[in-house]
Amino acid sequence: MGEVIGETKSLCPVCLSLVEAQRVVENGQVFLVKECPDHGLFKVPVWDDARYYSEVEHYDHPKVVPQVFKEWEKDAPSKMWDPSQQLQSTCLTVVEVTDGCNLKCPYCFASSDSSKMTNLDMETLRGMFTAVSTKVKKPTVVQISGGEPTIRNDLPEIVAMAKGLKIDFIQLNTNGVRLAKEDGYAGVMKKAGVDSVYLGFDTFDREVWKKICGVDLLDLKLKAVENCRRAGLPIELVPKIIPGLNVDQIGKIIEFAKKNIGIIKGVHFQPISYFGRVPAEPKDENYITIPSLLREIERQTGGEITPDDFIPTGCADVHCDTKCFGFVSEGRFVSLTKMSGKFSPDLDITRTVREGVYGSWGNILAKEAGLLDGDQPMSDKDCGCGTWMGLVKDLTLNALTISAMHFQDAWNIDYGRLRNCCIHEVMPDGRFVPFCLFNASDVRGRAPFRELWCAQNRK
Ligand code: SF4
Ligand code: SF4
Ligand SMILES: [Zn+2]
Repeated sequence: MGEVIGETKSLCPVCLSLVEAQRVVENGQVFLVKECPDHGLFKVPVWDDARYYSEVEHYDHPKVVPQVFKEWEKDAPSKMWDPSQQLQSTCLTVVEVTDGCNLKCPYCFASSDSSKMTNLDMETLRGMFTAVSTKVKKPTVVQISGGEPTIRNDLPEIVAMAKGLKIDFIQLNTNGVRLAKEDGYAGVMKKAGVDSVYLGFDTFDREVWKKICGVDLLDLKLKAVENCRRAGLPIELVPKIIPGLNVDQIGKIIEFAKKNIGIIKGVHFQPISYFGRVPAEPKDENYITIPSLLREIERQTGGEITPDDFIPTGCADVHCDTKCFGFVSEGRFVSLTKMSGKFSPDLDITRTVREGVYGSWGNILAKEAGLLDGDQPMSDKDCGCGTWMGLVKDLTLNALTISAMHFQDAWNIDYGRLRNCCIHEVMPDGRFVPFCLFNASDVRGRAPFRELWCAQNRK
């Protein structure tokens, strides 16, 4: 075995027991090595550049120990989790309103399809949004998710209720099918209070869509973008990156975002994790880790965007995410990340991230700068060439965030990372769970926290 660089805990992917694990460097790559007494040894790649793995630790930020996990003290599923170990407060909360979907993708965190239809009732949802308003400092950011939330015809009422309960920023996580197919639906969502759409967008290759989602979705995705543009509803594209299927699409998706700057505010890459429904158990070559993703971004953008343009947010664990802030000017991406340097330790980092999402992705800053007429950009306000207003326009309307978060599945989960998790799922009873733990599923796709979500709804 190679050099051991850290001790941690992980899960056995077969029985989901908490097991001791080690971070090990071998041939310049970092692996997680663990052994379950009943199910044997597992060795999984987690980071394919050991030097960069230690370099990013420079961006680690002091955490604000959260109170919310104390609520699990009496009945935490101790086999999988010790909630007293959580170190970070909430940046983004996820509220799943249904586990049903109008698609049945071969890769689906939530194992959703049209045969499932646990819809949380309005009173339960009211309690969940109230939990967010009371437990998370402002501005509060909620992602409404599922399953596919747009299969619920009462979604506008759900969104309006969340806004009424003082949720500041609402992002709709959707496959875009209804946004594309139903004329005026994007406007209905905007009017109800959705601030931004988190749109799955994996490829421009029709055959690859069939492999990832079971059907060719390209035309629907493009139509969804157009419909959001007409409604003035900002979008963040979310490509899940799967080795062997769509790694070659990374540059094309960034180019598409640049061409649609103004309505597309970000591209958030998700290197594939093996949660819920997946075609097969993962092998080493089925993972792409953050360093390789960044090298692909550099290669596929012809060096316009480089790994040096990215830093971890410091909000999540430094090995969970990476982010590059910038803007598009004359067709080129200009990174601002290099100028930002290391965050001050006194900064409230989860608040900074929530404010960034609120101000930038929802066009709030552009509105405050007087660059929007209603929801539409004031195109003749300024050409953007070398003037103060041009710079303001670049920094608001033309802003683009390129980011990635590599979720952890039962194979690669490192509880050192999980302890720093700032993305929290809200359970029907109002308690919070780190997102990766909520989704962790065993080799058969069984996810105990998702089962608890269903069970709480039946009570
Ligand atoms: S991945 Fe999304 S769109 Fe596909 S089945 Fe799952 S919830 Fe539905
Ligand atoms: S959701 Fe997972 S990958 Fe993201 S911050 Fe939490 S533990 Fe890290
Ligand atoms: Zn086991």
